[in-house]
Amino acid sequence: MGINTQIEVTDLHKSFGKNEVLKGITTTFEKGDVVCIIGPSGSGKSTFLRSLNGLEAATSGDIIVDGFNLTDKNTDINLVRQNVGMVFQHFNLFPNMTVFENITYAPIQLKKQSKAEAEEKALHLLEAVGLLEKKDTMPDMLSGGQKQRVAIARALAMDPDVMLFDEPTSALDPEMVGDVLDLMRRIADDGMTMLIVTHEMGFARKVANRVIFTDGGLILEDGTPEDVFDHPKHPRLQDFLSKVL
Ligand code: ADP
Ligand code: MG
Repeated sequence: MGINTQIEVTDLHKSFGKNEVLKGITTTFEKGDVVCIIGPSGSGKSTFLRSLNGLEAATSGDIIVDGFNLTDKNTDINLVRQNVGMVFQHFNLFPNMTVFENITYAPIQLKKQSKAEAEEKALHLLEAVGLLEKKDTMPDMLSGGQKQRVAIARALAMDPDVMLFDEPTSALDPEMVGDVLDLMRRIADDGMTMLIVTHEMGFARKVANRVIFTDGGLILEDGTPEDVFDHPKHPRLQDFLSKVL
């Protein structure tokens, strides 16, 4: 494990009952990596991402995040999770809180920051995502693109070391997708470690330094965007790209 390794996954298996969804995933992610994960529906992309912050418990294998082994019973999973932000396809904002409260809630509750600090940071984040004027709005009143930008601001408010994105633009109307991808690109430019499950191949090509293709619960290809998109080796990847590009 190198000095810049942030996540190390070794022979990760995950089954739901008899359905083995992850069949032995081994990989590492370095600080500052921006990795897009692509692959057919049902190939285990979400299960993999959710395993990295303990939303799914591994059946076997090791997952080390920031030096903490998630599969070790003595690891305080909540502490690890505070450093791993997650953004979901369907936003998952707290519906009964304003935009501002959505962003300040976890940092204050988990005592990661003082109230004043959390509120000041939330204002900065809202400005950065272009939604300062929506501060006191309830999530219901926002468009999908605005909700997702709030969800991203909420995740960033915890000062995570890693951000996980699970198809962050898949539920958005087409005209909203660009704003969210632009925001993600700015976060990447700031040096954040990001793992992004996405079908946005243009984004993957431009922003990722690495692209992983999963199918059938395995990583079948892992390389630069150029390797994966222009010189796909595995027949399943070639077939996948012929359908999505
Ligand atoms: P992807 O994100 O690549 O579409 P998923 O990780 O969501 O794939 O799902 C992979 C497989 O695992 C699917 O067959 C799905 O039905 C199954 N699966 C995912 N989550 C659960 C769960 N909580 N319980 C049972 N089966 C699940
Ligand atoms: Mg999924």
